[in-house]
Amino acid sequence: MSVLELARPELQALVPYSSARMEAAASAVMLNANESPWPPPGDAGQNLNRYPEPQPCALRARMAGLYGVCEEQVLLGRGSDEAIDLLVRAFCRPGQDAVMVCPPTFGMYAVCAGVQGAAVRRVPLDAAFALDVDAVLAACMAPVKLLFLCSPNNPTGGMVPLEVIGRLADALRGRALVIVDEAYVEFADQSSAAMLLSRHANLGVLRTLSKAWALAGARIGALLAQADVVALLRRIVPPYPLPTPCVDAAMRALGARGKQHMQERVAIIRRERERLRIALCRLPGVRGVLPTQANFLTVRFDDPATMYRILAAQGIIVRDVTRYPRLGDALRISVGTPRENARLLEVLQAGTNPLATTPPDIAAGRSRANGSRRALSGRR
Ligand SMILES: *Cc1c(COP(=O)(O)O)cnc(C)c1O
Repeated sequence: MSVLELARPELQALVPYSSARMEAAASAVMLNANESPWPPPGDAGQNLNRYPEPQPCALRARMAGLYGVCEEQVLLGRGSDEAIDLLVRAFCRPGQDAVMVCPPTFGMYAVCAGVQGAAVRRVPLDAAFALDVDAVLAACMAPVKLLFLCSPNNPTGGMVPLEVIGRLADALRGRALVIVDEAYVEFADQSSAAMLLSRHANLGVLRTLSKAWALAGARIGALLAQADVVALLRRIVPPYPLPTPCVDAAMRALGARGKQHMQERVAIIRRERERLRIALCRLPGVRGVLPTQANFLTVRFDDPATMYRILAAQGIIVRDVTRYPRLGDALRISVGTPRENARLLEVLQAGTNPLATTPPDIAAGRSRANGSRRALSGRR
């Protein structure tokens, strides 16, 4: 059975929009897309008067090489967020189909399902925030179309071992797609699940240039999957998802020099992550730090709300994750530059010091009292 039989049947029948750029690639005289024949002022050779390629060939080839797959197995989109949305729209019929997520995890899977009118089934991670494989398999006895696994997981930082991903894909063959979101895999010890794609027709891997590649502002992500799944999603992706300047920025970043630069920065983040983890564990108000394979640390505090406010007052914004199940005492902190991390520790040290956490109004009152006492003793 082809994995496409899991997709919404009406999409197979849909005649996709055929854009001018799809019908004919660049030529000397282009009068087929109602574009301006002139570039805008200050264009600097970017040809911004022309629509971009729907799936820019050079970028697709480069990302395929980077991830070790064929070009036909790559769908480029506006961040991996767009691929999540396209997957849900392609496979889930509103009011009938379901996706499965394993909380606490990234919120976009459930949001996209909600927008599409698909049900969300939840199988929580176990007490150590590892995937509960047996519970997932048991819950999949009732059909789901997509199983989203986030590895390393946001916001807990743990990974799903590759053998578990393979086992799940085998068990769900012909029944569901297993989608592994690897937004943070460049920071991890374990390698990508992309190497499993040749063995599992029902596997998909999400990659992004937003994190390790430092291109969150360019909004470029990819789904790696079987060519037929990619072809199906191309039927519903908007005609020109990637703006030319973003594609150019990605091509520069993914060159040989850019790649080395990325690796150096990832090495710094990994070192800083360990340094921060050790320092955080020593702070009196810190209950613990979750083991992490990503570029953030999820930290349990005695009083997360106060710590959040102290940090914010000093101009340091972290992510409040206390709304997630079993993270009611946690803040998620991205690893920054060595300087930013030093500043973070400085503020946390002052903030978790029992002598320094006295609210300012009481502290002010006390110093006034001290002052008057000193005044009294001075009189004496
Ligand atoms: C940051 C993040 C992404 C990346 O989204 P983009 O749309 O590619 O910027 C995807 N998944 C998870 C879990 C993330 O944390």
